[in-house]
Amino acid sequence: MTNFEPKPSNYFFNTLKDSGSIIMATNLRILNGVAHGVFRAAKKMDAVFLVELAKSECDLTGGYTGLTPEKLSKMTRAIAEDVKFDMWGLHADHITLKKGNLEEIKEVQDLIDAQVKAGYTSFAIDASFLFNVNGKTTEECLAKNIEVTSRMVKYVKNKMNDKEFGLEVEVGEIGYHDGQGKVKTKPEEAVTFLQGLKEQDVFPNVLAIANGSAHGNNYDLQGNLMAQLSIDISQTQAVAKAIRTAGLDVRIAQHGITGTPRELIRTLFPHKDVLKGNVGTFWQNIVWDTLKVYEPDLHQRMCAWTMEKFKEDAVKKGLKTEPQILGLYGKNATKEFFDELYSLRESTVQALESVAYSEALLFFEAFQAQGSAEKVRRTMFK
Ligand SMILES: [Zn+2]
Repeated sequence: MTNFEPKPSNYFFNTLKDSGSIIMATNLRILNGVAHGVFRAAKKMDAVFLVELAKSECDLTGGYTGLTPEKLSKMTRAIAEDVKFDMWGLHADHITLKKGNLEEIKEVQDLIDAQVKAGYTSFAIDASFLFNVNGKTTEECLAKNIEVTSRMVKYVKNKMNDKEFGLEVEVGEIGYHDGQGKVKTKPEEAVTFLQGLKEQDVFPNVLAIANGSAHGNNYDLQGNLMAQLSIDISQTQAVAKAIRTAGLDVRIAQHGITGTPRELIRTLFPHKDVLKGNVGTFWQNIVWDTLKVYEPDLHQRMCAWTMEKFKEDAVKKGLKTEPQILGLYGKNATKEFFDELYSLRESTVQALESVAYSEALLFFEAFQAQGSAEKVRRTMFK
């Protein structure tokens, strides 16, 4: 009998790695209406997908979304059951370690404990910040990342007991800017990193790299919203090729897709190199846009709260326009307005669901994900 529980994402990655389908991973910061729409679109397309939130978005105290791992799991399971869609996973996005000291490791272990208890089926350890800029060799630069990533992966394995799960790791801080431009992951860095992990018996399914994308919305120098056209396709292909040539069975996770035109994803993305595609801020944007029309008073108060709280900080950072400040800091209003966002009028919820449904269809189509769920069912239940 079919069950609608989240499935171990290693099955998704292993089955689909050479199929040309990209697995969409959705950071649904506001679930109300939106999650139903995405689940319904996945069912319609029979497309595998992941629900994910990063440590910053969802932790033991609710991160900036107000969702704990337990809450996220409970709510999305209920939606999967209601929609009757079975081929989804619950992924811990960016389990970030920036220091790698014992205190931080303990804090992250507590988060992992809660995620495992909540029934997560997929994990991303992100120690990419621990890049040693003074290292003389690639090995030296990456030693700390390899050490901390291995340690945390072993912790997850141990906690998961015999249960299977999918694994993502990260090399190269996404969106990192060194004053000259965005720093991108080099092919030899990716290979050295994965080989270092292999020596520790750590075998990830996907690798997140820095390849020119940024998290969140993109703005021009005047502060106007613009499409993201900065993902470096040939660098991504070069990294993927180097990984294959080294005999490593790992594909690329593309972060920060918000703002990239879907027709370009469809035609230009290297679908056999990129296996996981993260779409986050996009889903928040559609909520804010819908609230503008359906709940103008709530929208206005969320804007005012964000401006009051973050304007000074934003101006210090050189942000110029109000839409830019709202576009980059508005995520923080999610927790503050949690109760209202989860008790919207029925007509607003329906609008959110419809918008999310149609937008998710476009993503699944651009990711060539139609029918991917059936392929996984065949390998899982053969
Ligand atoms: Zn990311």
